[in-house]
Amino acid sequence: MKALVKGAGVAGLTAAYELASRGAAVTVVDPRTDMVRAASWFAGGMLAPDCERESAEPLIQELGLGAADWWDAALPGHVVRAGTLVVAPARDTAELARFAARTTGFRTLGEEEIAEFEPDLAGRFRLALHFVREAHLDPRAALTALRGRLETMGVLFVEGEAGSRFDLTLDCTGMARAASDPNLRGVRGEMLILRAPDVTLSRPVRLLHPRFPLYVVPRADHCFMVGATMIESESGRPVTARSMMELLNAAYSVHPAFGEAEIVEAGVGVRPAYPDNLPRVTQSGATISINGLYRHGFLLAPAMAQRAAQMAFSISKTRELAHEAHR
Ligand SMILES: Cc1cc2nc3c(=O)[nH]c(=O)nc-3n(C[C@H](O)[C@H](O)[C@H](O)COP(=O)(O)OP(=O)(O)OC[C@H]3O[C@@H](n4cnc5c(N)ncnc54)[C@H](O)[C@@H]3O)c2cc1C
Repeated sequence: MKALVKGAGVAGLTAAYELASRGAAVTVVDPRTDMVRAASWFAGGMLAPDCERESAEPLIQELGLGAADWWDAALPGHVVRAGTLVVAPARDTAELARFAARTTGFRTLGEEEIAEFEPDLAGRFRLALHFVREAHLDPRAALTALRGRLETMGVLFVEGEAGSRFDLTLDCTGMARAASDPNLRGVRGEMLILRAPDVTLSRPVRLLHPRFPLYVVPRADHCFMVGATMIESESGRPVTARSMMELLNAAYSVHPAFGEAEIVEAGVGVRPAYPDNLPRVTQSGATISINGLYRHGFLLAPAMAQRAAQMAFSISKTRELAHEAHR
């Protein structure tokens, strides 16, 4: 089977991987293979099925449970399995109880255990929830490595026109598909990358707040991704001063040494979402579409890619049988 994957974000690359692993000849086309416009480029990289259950349907948790294993198998060494720490400032401890009531898969840590898990947070929070089976990765490193892995598997990457001799197309164009899919909407996410040499964290820290729940995800070289706003808008305009203040406030509440951090980047990604915030794999003729990954692209793309690849091969098989019957 010759498959064309449109879009080199996390949906497209994971789909290309699943198709190529099953023996398809795959071409990936994207007008911007540097990915700087892709929502995927701005993600936190948290693989957090249990924490996300706080605001998401049970399906998200179910689909996301295998994500860390998938990424580990595809890209050994990229996944950090240290769980997630959820904390709240002293004035918002009710938020912690509310979060705990809506989730599972955590252990409650007291001050001493918090200091053992994250020495830099010693004395800063009285209670924390540790979501033990969660993981994270650096999305940019993972996407770059996945592309490299795909190239070694024979997948072709094209920036311009890919031609038309394909049995099947996988549309993984994220927000670009909104032009032909009126149900798709954008949810703007603003984020910062800070470099704070005086802070060391081993796992994502989510800071609960009644209005702005935000998080800090550690990256290499004392860099941290601080994210992310959730604004009903498709605008990709630069980060606003208000959002920047909220993001910096959150980082500062996690650790005051973030006050001395260097602002490496202020970025914006637009998450593609359907009205129910659930992902969809749909088929129309010889085109399969994966979209609506919303705030769960890295968490859900593996399961969606597997589903789409199965669908692609069953369409291809049905066509072969129909072709033989006509001979
Ligand atoms: C700030 C932020 C933080 C996030 N944090 C997390 C997180 O911690 N964990 C998590 O799981 N998810 C997270 N997400 C969500 C995740 O990033 C998205 O769900 C995911 O990136 C969507 O992936 P996608 O491949 O569908 O779209 P995109 O990444 O937007 O990729 C679409 C690609 O299609 C290309 N394209 C457009 N038009 C065409 C065309 N005509 N032909 C070919 N190619 C085309 C684009 O150039 C782009 O490269 C976050 C998102 C944001 C914005």
